[in-house]
Amino acid sequence: MAHKLSNRVNRLSESATIAMAQKSRELKAKGLDIISLSLGEPDFYTPDFIKEAAHQAIDDNFSTYTPVPGYQDLREAAVKKFKRDNGLEYSPSQILFSTGAKQCINNAIMCLSDKGDEVVIPAPFWVTYEEIVKMANATPVIIETEIASDFKVTPQQLRDHLSENTKVLLFSSPCNPTGSVYSKEELADIAEVLKDYPDVIVVADEIYEHINFIGEHYSMANIEGMFDRTVTVNGVSKAFAMTGWRVGFMAGPQWIIDACNKMQGQVTSATCSIAQRAAKAALEADPVVIQHMTETFLRRRDMVLKELSKIEFFKLNEPEGAFYIFPDVSACFEMKYEGEKIENADNLCLLLLEKAQVALVTGGAFGAPNCIRFSYAAADDILIEACNRLVGFFSKLEA
Ligand code: PLP
Repeated sequence: MAHKLSNRVNRLSESATIAMAQKSRELKAKGLDIISLSLGEPDFYTPDFIKEAAHQAIDDNFSTYTPVPGYQDLREAAVKKFKRDNGLEYSPSQILFSTGAKQCINNAIMCLSDKGDEVVIPAPFWVTYEEIVKMANATPVIIETEIASDFKVTPQQLRDHLSENTKVLLFSSPCNPTGSVYSKEELADIAEVLKDYPDVIVVADEIYEHINFIGEHYSMANIEGMFDRTVTVNGVSKAFAMTGWRVGFMAGPQWIIDACNKMQGQVTSATCSIAQRAAKAALEADPVVIQHMTETFLRRRDMVLKELSKIEFFKLNEPEGAFYIFPDVSACFEMKYEGEKIENADNLCLLLLEKAQVALVTGGAFGAPNCIRFSYAAADDILIEACNRLVGFFSKLEA
């Protein structure tokens, strides 16, 4: 029997982050002392008050299907969160809860783009963006940015990549993988360019909103003229250490949320009822309860930046949010480690895994083939050991 899969799935790349995590698990199972810094998830436990809300929901028999966009009181909690944290005024009908922010982004792209349509994505970008666009049969239009602009897209770069086929601009702030945070002024500059393209919708991924070291998170939807053309995506995975609970949410113009609701209703229905009750507790809490996690990430960022700056081959930006360091490592391409040539970031990551036993992710997966991603969502001693191994590895490179 011919194993004929669809072109859709054949076009997709496997998630590089998940593949690297899998590879390091396999090597660990063989007894190797691998330090895995490849996945993007907090190393904290979900706070107790959230776990208690979930226990309570089980005891109270929240066990049936829920409305597709989520419980009404959960959507009301999201409305209050948007008002409290972002100064945005939505109605509950403009909110949709999904199985993670990932599904929200998928909903939005699937509902807004068709074959021949273009989705503009500044690189470096979160690995899944490009693949979702490919699944939608639309065309990803990648904008390369530079470390000199802190990996943020400039108005001119954006203008150069917009066309009459552009349907969506998709980006994250704080950004995975660069940690860059767009200021109010930078978002306003983007909005200014978009004035000439009034049909383009912005999908603003704000999942790292609370892991922000500069104190100010600004939402694209809050920029003048953007509310009616922005879909804001957020979730509890990162801020509340709830990656496994699978709860994300989106807010936006009614016509888009209605379409996403219709689509999600035919794909997964609502996300888990118990996880929704837990997410309600998270969203209603004062963000002060998660501040210690952000403070820890900031301390670790500084510690890791200090250690990694010892590596002469690394060009580093200073991330303002999220929990990643994204060095440009192109200076070591063509160098050799024990006779083996480093051709690119893919092969560097494999060598680092084999020789230094540290699992990182190649920047190629994020649209930045000169970089590698180091997640510092791990304990201090693990991070220090990983940095020592990297410093040791790079000190042995030869021309
Ligand atoms: N958006 C970005 C930028 C991410 O880094 C991630 C997870 O790594 C997600 C969305 C997905 O989040 P969730 O776990 O809510 O699906």
